[in-house]
Amino acid sequence: MRKVEEWLKRAGTADGRIDAGRGRRRTGGLALAECPELAMGLQKSAVRPAAGEKESGCMSRIIDKPYFTYSAYSALTLGIQAKCPKCQGAGVVTADRDNAFFRCHGCGHQMTRDRTVYRYAVHNQCRHCGRYYRVEIQDEAKQRFPVLHVACPYCKSRMPGEVLRTAQGFSYADEIREGKEPYFGLELWFLSYFQGKPVWAINREHLAYLIDYLSADLREKPFGLPKRTQADHLPTFMKTAKNRERIVKLLKKMQGGAD
Ligand SMILES: [Zn+2]
Ligand SMILES: [Zn+2]
Repeated sequence: MRKVEEWLKRAGTADGRIDAGRGRRRTGGLALAECPELAMGLQKSAVRPAAGEKESGCMSRIIDKPYFTYSAYSALTLGIQAKCPKCQGAGVVTADRDNAFFRCHGCGHQMTRDRTVYRYAVHNQCRHCGRYYRVEIQDEAKQRFPVLHVACPYCKSRMPGEVLRTAQGFSYADEIREGKEPYFGLELWFLSYFQGKPVWAINREHLAYLIDYLSADLREKPFGLPKRTQADHLPTFMKTAKNRERIVKLLKKMQGGAD
């Protein structure tokens, strides 16, 4: 609170009164009400401009979002925009608990992928020693056979046994890597490069978030100070002050050019 008072003093008033109901703050000639962020959020202390920054005008401020807001998990909510492998047009990857889906807006190409993780094992009773055993089959090529020859883990004698498949759980959504979504390995629709490094957004909402976040004058953690927030996904080169302006330009180009 002290910082706010200090700032108000510097901005030209010591007794900034609030016009109750409308959230307007009357200051000596400074129209703070034009800046809704300032008018609404003055109880937070961070609005004081840093040394060297302009004191008048509206400081744009952004409060960061929780860590998983825009991630591979977005397929379960808004969807991930990705490039169609058939026509290179824009499509969307969505998912539910059991399956992941891709649908192209251009050519109508569709894909579905089972998200269930199966475990394969030969269950058998040994013909030699009579004991029951279970041998896990890790090799993906072997998992397709209905019957396999495996060795009894007790007496080592080999015999054929039936391969049984059981659902183990659901694959969890992996991270976005190298500008590709983890469900089908498709290239993201909003993908560009800055000095050889991928700059991407999962969908239009994420793109807008990145532009807002990087072009804000002040970036704050959400209330309650979680350990990690959305911006922790961002590589350092995107956040450093010297690159920020050019990254924002690049993102805005993606926002305007692609649809
Ligand atoms: Zn297509
Ligand atoms: Zn045996």
